[in-house]
Formats: sequence, structure tokens, C-alpha cells
Amino acid sequence: MSKPFPLRILLKKCTMCGICIDSCPVSALTEDDEKIFIDESLCTLCGICESACEEGAIVREKEEQATVSLDEYKNVWIFAEQKRGKVEPVAFELLGKGRELANKLNTELIAVLLGHNIECETQILIHKGADRVILVDAPELANYLPEPYAKVLKELALEYKPEIILSGSTTIGRSLFGRLAVGLSTGLTADCTILDIDDEDKKLIQTRPAWGGNIMATIITPKTRPQMATVRHKVMKELPLDKTRSGEVIRKSFSKEILLSRSHFIEFVEDLSQQVKLTEANIIVAGGRGLEKPENFKLIQELADILCGAVGASRPCVDDGWIPFSHQVGQTGKTVSPKLYIAVGISGSVQHLAGIQSSEVIVAINKDPDASIFNICDYGIIGDLFDVVPLLTKKLKKSLNTKCKE
Ligand SMILES: Cc1cc2nc3c(=O)[nH]c(=O)nc-3n(C[C@H](O)[C@H](O)[C@H](O)COP(=O)(O)OP(=O)(O)OC[C@H]3O[C@@H](n4cnc5c(N)ncnc54)[C@H](O)[C@@H]3O)c2cc1C
Repeated sequence: MSKPFPLRILLKKCTMCGICIDSCPVSALTEDDEKIFIDESLCTLCGICESACEEGAIVREKEEQATVSLDEYKNVWIFAEQKRGKVEPVAFELLGKGRELANKLNTELIAVLLGHNIECETQILIHKGADRVILVDAPELANYLPEPYAKVLKELALEYKPEIILSGSTTIGRSLFGRLAVGLSTGLTADCTILDIDDEDKKLIQTRPAWGGNIMATIITPKTRPQMATVRHKVMKELPLDKTRSGEVIRKSFSKEILLSRSHFIEFVEDLSQQVKLTEANIIVAGGRGLEKPENFKLIQELADILCGAVGASRPCVDDGWIPFSHQVGQTGKTVSPKLYIAVGISGSVQHLAGIQSSEVIVAINKDPDASIFNICDYGIIGDLFDVVPLLTKKLKKSLNTKCKE
């Protein structure tokens, strides 16, 4: 059963000044018949109207969860994101971490899969660590749409009461989990890099970089459930495939009303700008402002090609339009974890390092011996990139003689 809407207008206090209507960023407040009304389907519970109302006429009901027994919630859920009928790799990483958390809590790990004609994907989720899969198969869920996905997940969470729900910090995960957390009136920690269970009180410890990556913040959700977190792709480790594992598939269906969406899926347009996907690449050669101009990314591309790697970039190169955003590595770009990361003309700011810290080997090429990148790299080459990179490419061309896989 859905909870009552938490915002209320106190008619006795309301002076009909209209400040709340003007303040609402989503136009959820309207005036009719000398009363203010809240459109619950539009309101995101952001709280701006509550702060704007000088009369204190907009109040938020005490959250029901504050009195709800936390013990009622059990099991760890992961949202198994799929695109075009295939589960995304980040879901397997979540299963790896989710398995560890579920074992610590002595509970079950459940993958939730939404889509259409995706029954075939349920087994791989079990083989990768899930005890059960909740499958919602409907044509309306074939492609991600925020409204039906959030409504379906909310209904499932209200019914089964999971203790923890995790999602990838992907474009879809970020869009979906914000909505879901609001719908469930619970907290959400985005972009976690560490997740663990407190040995004493069994709460989820959610750690993420804060203040531009300068500190690590540890966040807990003490009073509400579920505890929700998103995790970036390539941060957690997936488990090996175990085909001997078996598990139950729970099939659920929902009414047309729940599956209704005001937005529609039109077309999937693939980013073809990269031959090798940055987040999946084993080798990345990344260029920074030291390249001086966009044309010089040719040097990076040539080296990457020899190594069958992908091309990365620091943010200034993207901001200046030298290379598309899909290549940006770092806090506001992609998190990568290649076997080899070669940083060329990159100084090593905390924001850049936030995206490369799980690389196995980092090589830095920089002409400034005091560049911070040299504090964290495994191998450093102090020199002018315009000398070093062509030389390296030439040497590798001779010795590697590689033919990259398609
Ligand atoms: C909120 C926020 C989020 C951010 N997110 C990101 C992010 O996701 N990713 C990111 O990268 N940045 C991010 N930044 C920007 C970040 O702070 C740095 O400004 C950026 O990483 C610097 O890029 P760079 O190393 O290419 O440039 P610079 O810091 O200018 O460094 C250029 C380097 O090239 C070297 N160099 C110059 N010429 C040569 C040469 N001929 N040969 C060899 N070396 C040479 C220099 O010695 C220098 O070390 C963010 C910033 C903020 C505030």
C-alpha cells in the first residue's frame, strides 16, 4: 500500500500570497478556489516551497519510516540494468559486492530485472551471485523510461521491503534512483566507492569522495529503509561465472496504470566515436592540456592504436572542445580500471585521479618533475611529450606488431 503524500498546506496559516507557487521549480503548486493545491504527480518533494513560505503554512508530515521497525526490512537487492535486452556489466559488479554484503548480513541477494523478453538474462544473474531474480517483463519496460521503472521498483520495494538496494551510477541508475529514493522517502548516496556493513549495528556504510575528491565521506541511513546507494562502473569487482548455482525467478506483473509513462522511447543512438569502450578498455592512453591543441590528440590516438587501447582525456580538453565528453576520465567523467593507464601531459589533479585510482599500472609522461601525477604513478617519464610519445609509438610498433581484435 502506498504511503500518504507527506506535504500538506495548513489552510489556517496560508495567506494565499502565492510565493510557494512561484518558488516551485516543477510547477506542482496551483491556486484554485482560494486554496493552494499540490499536484502529487509533479511534486518531487524538494522542499523549496516549504522554505519559501514565510507563514510556515507548508508542512511535511513526520516520515512514516521513522516509526517503522527497521527489522521488517531484509535482503540485499541490486537493480540489474539492461539495455536492448542485455544485462549491463555494472550489474555483475553490483552482484559481486551485493554477495559480500548479503553474506555479512546472513541474508539473500536478489537481482531485480525490468524489461521485455529478457527471461534469458535471469540465469546469468544467478550464475553471477544472485539467490533469486525478480523479473518484471512488459512491453512498456523494454527500454528505460523513468516513470514506469520508478513506479514498478517502488511497488516492489513496498511489497518486499529490501534492506539495501544498489544500482550502477550510470545515466539510467542516476535518473532512476533519485526518483525511487524520493518515492520511498529514504536516503540515497550516489557514486559510492566503498560499501560495507557495520559489524555492530549491521547498517550499510556508504563511502564516497566529497569536496572535489579531497576527502572521503562515510554516510549511513540510520532511520529509513531501504538503504540506497549507486556505484560507478568498474569500482566493484564481479564474481566469476558459476554455472552450478541455481536460484528462483519470481515473475511479477503490473497494471497499465503503473506502467504508464509521459515520456516515450524514440530511438537508441549508439556512440560510435570510440572504437574501444573506455570503461571496458584494458589499456587507455589519455591526453591532457599538455597536448596544447586538439590536433595533437593524433599522437595519443596513434599510441592507443598500437596498444589496442582506448583514448581518454582530462576535463580541460573536453571543455575546450578538443575531444568529445565520452572520452573524459575523472570525477565528472568516467571511472576506469584498465590494466595500463598512460597519462600524457596530465598534471594529476584530485578530480582526474578520482577516475583512475583502480588502474593496475599507471604510467605518466610529463615535462614537469614536480607534477602531482608522479606521486601516484607506477612509472614516470620526465620529458617533453612531443619527443617521448612518437618515440614510444615507433618502438612499440616495431616490437609489438599487434593486430587488434574487432
Ligand atoms: C568539480 C570539478 C570536477 C572536475 N572533474 C574533472 C574530471 O572529471 N576530469 C579531469 O580531468 N578534471 C576534472 N576537473 C578539472 C581538474 O581540476 C583539473 O583542472 C584538470 O584535471 C587538469 O587537466 P590537465 O592535467 O590536463 O591540465 P593541467 O593541470 O594544465 O596540466 C597539464 C600538464 O601537462 C604538462 N605538460 C605541458 N606541456 C607538456 C609537454 N610538452 N610535455 C609533457 N608534459 C607537458 C604540464 O607540466 C602539466 O602538468 C574537475 C574540476 C572540478 C572543480
